[in-house]
Order: sequence, then structure tokens, then C-alpha cells
Amino acid sequence: MDSLVPMDNDVPPVNGGTGGSSPRRRQGFETLAIHAGQEPDPTTGAVVPPIYQVSTYKQDGIGGLREGYEYSRSANPTRTSLEVCLAEVEAGARGLAFASGLAAEDALLRTVCRPGDHVIIPNDAYGGTYRLFAKVAEPWGVTFDPVPLADLDAVRAAVRPDTRAVWVETPTNPLLGIADITALAGVAHDAGALLVVDNTFASPYLQQPLALGADVVVHSTTKYVGGHSDVVGGALVAADADLGERLAFHQNAMGAVAGPFDAWLTLRGLKTLGVRMDRHCANAERIVEMLTRHDAVREVLYPGLPSHPGHDVAAKQMRAFGGMVSFRMGSQEAAVRVCERTKLFTLGESLGGVESLIEHPGRMTHASAAGSPLEVPADLVRLSVGIEDADDLLRDLELALA
Ligand SMILES: *Cc1c(COP(=O)(O)O)cnc(C)c1O
Repeated sequence: MDSLVPMDNDVPPVNGGTGGSSPRRRQGFETLAIHAGQEPDPTTGAVVPPIYQVSTYKQDGIGGLREGYEYSRSANPTRTSLEVCLAEVEAGARGLAFASGLAAEDALLRTVCRPGDHVIIPNDAYGGTYRLFAKVAEPWGVTFDPVPLADLDAVRAAVRPDTRAVWVETPTNPLLGIADITALAGVAHDAGALLVVDNTFASPYLQQPLALGADVVVHSTTKYVGGHSDVVGGALVAADADLGERLAFHQNAMGAVAGPFDAWLTLRGLKTLGVRMDRHCANAERIVEMLTRHDAVREVLYPGLPSHPGHDVAAKQMRAFGGMVSFRMGSQEAAVRVCERTKLFTLGESLGGVESLIEHPGRMTHASAAGSPLEVPADLVRLSVGIEDADDLLRDLELALA
């Protein structure tokens, strides 16, 4: 597969580099994921960055910091490795690692907004993002409007003089809607607002929002980046160094940083993101093919289907269509029955791990959206397709649907 990372540009590396005017070939995604920010340890030659499980650092005289480290909330070498790698794989100027995806979102919100500002969010945003806006940001004085982001006229109409950011998810959770990042960057920038993209579902391997005009990328690294359902984390990657610096200030001032072990696990996951994602996508395509033929399934939601309203945009901005698949069963009873009958697909929340998961968004991940503009259909089932043997996954689902 071709890399989405521009191959012949002169974007300087975040961790130094020669700069200058000669075009530098950007390394491919998997090379960056395995090597960026991860030079072998200068003392021992260890090829994997150590877990610097430490809070403070000896100073060589007052103010005499070694490598800039003084206290691990401000910076920690294991976290730095992850942050440099995240910036490189998203082709941004600055990466920052947080204790969770929501901690990253909160830091972003409070860096770019002041009370009195306004933000446009997707009308099918991740439930926790909606809750952050409705229960934390709004009482603080930031207003927001949920808007269908696939409808550019609706987004333009929702823009106000005080709109500070357009917040995008694509694909969305759990309805797998697609938003056109380039077009939305145009709308946001015309309004003097920032374009924020939550890239959790696609991961930087499938989609690179900064190259499409976004200003900041948000991740729940808990999902595909970590990839093994063993760590909770979040990240921000800023396109330009000034915004990166302001975000770094808030990361330190607010303090919701990723700990060294969590940073290490996330970095370990990131190394294999490319190969895992290829398999997630291939398995998802097999399952979509089976579901679209199945009599018991009413509708399959997957951006890889030509009938999906966002298919052309997804094909333009994504390398492949991802490992998340949703489908409708016609009734809540039928949806719940499938969720409770699979054996290999584990009934559980979250997504993006190597193991396949199944859930009923209406009563699980999106239960808190009931009665809000983000309420999801009761007959919906969501799959996070793992990287197990595809035939085993198909058999498991077919038995549950029978
Ligand atoms: C899970 C998720 C989040 C929140 O991340 P946490 O790591 O759970 O705090 C944000 N956005 C999306 C799209 C998610 O799936």
C-alpha cells in the first residue's frame, strides 16, 4: 500500500534534523512508528526506550538540567519518546501524551477556548465528548452546537462570530458517518476558527488530518494506537509549533499527563499499528460482505460500502475503511440477542484492540445519550473487528444471527 505520509516534502523532523532547502524524503509510516523518538539508549544500547519510572532528576548545580528534565509532570523521557513518535506519525509539529483521551480533549478545549466562545461539534459525537461539552465546558461558559458535519451548509449556518473551533470526528461512533476534512478545514478557517479532528477511529495509519488542513488531531490512544486493550491514554498533535507550545503549557499546568508505564505500553502498541490495521480492515471487509447478504440484518453501516453516503469522501481521505462495523437488526430485541450470543466477539465497551468486541450502543456506550440529540437507534449493533482468523469470526457471527 502507498503511504499517506507525503513522500517528497521538506517537513522538518520534530526531533531536530538538518532543515535546509533540499527536499527530504519522509520515511514511511511503519518506519516512523518503530523508530521516531526511539533511538537506542545511549548508555546501554537498549533498542527499546526504557520505562523511566521516576518523578525527579538530579540537577548539576541550580538550573543545570540534563536534557531538560526536572520533574516528570513537565517532561519524562519515556513520554517524550511517545510524544515525538506521535508527532511524526501524524506529520505534526508537536505531540503530547495524556492520561486519557478525555484528558487530552479537556486540555485542548481549555487552551483554545475562553468563556464566551462557541464550538461546533458532530451531532453524533463520541458520548464522552458530548458529556465534556454539555456538563463541563458549558457550565464553564463555552457554548456548543451539535451539527451534522456531512452537511457543509449546516456547518456554515452554525458558524458564529465567536466560533473558536469546528470539532470533527470521522468516521463517527457508532454510526460511522464520514465528514470531509478538507472541506471542513475551509469552512473553519474562513470563520477564523480551528479545525480539530478526533482521529481515534481511523488512526494515523488510515487517515492524516493535518495533511488535509486540520490544526489539531485528538486521539484516544486507548483504542487503535495502544491496540491491546491494556492501557488508557490520549494524545494531541498540533500542526504548528506555536499552538503545540500553548498546548504543552496547559498539559503541564493542568497535569493530566500519561505516566511512564502507560506511555511505554502505548509506544509498544504504536509500533505495530500498520500491520494490525491492515488485518482489522481485511477482516472487517469479510464480515461486511457476510452481513450485507444476511437475511436477518436490515442495514450495514460501513464507509467501505459504495452505498454509504460518505463512501467517496472516505475513499479520498482514508487509506482503507477501518475495523469498525455497525449494523441494524430491525428491533432492539434482535440486536440484544446477537450481542448476547456471540462467543468469540466479546460483549464489551471500547474498541480498537486485537480481540473482537461486540456491543449494543443504545444500552451500553451511548446509554448516556438517551433523550439527547445524540441518541442512537435501539436496533443498532456495533462491532470492533479484531485480528483473529476471519473464518472463525464469520462462523461466530453467523451462529449468533441464526
Ligand atoms: C474512547 C474515545 C474517546 C475518549 O477517550 P478515553 O481514552 O476513553 O478518555 C474520545 N473519542 C473517541 C472517538 C473515542 O472512541
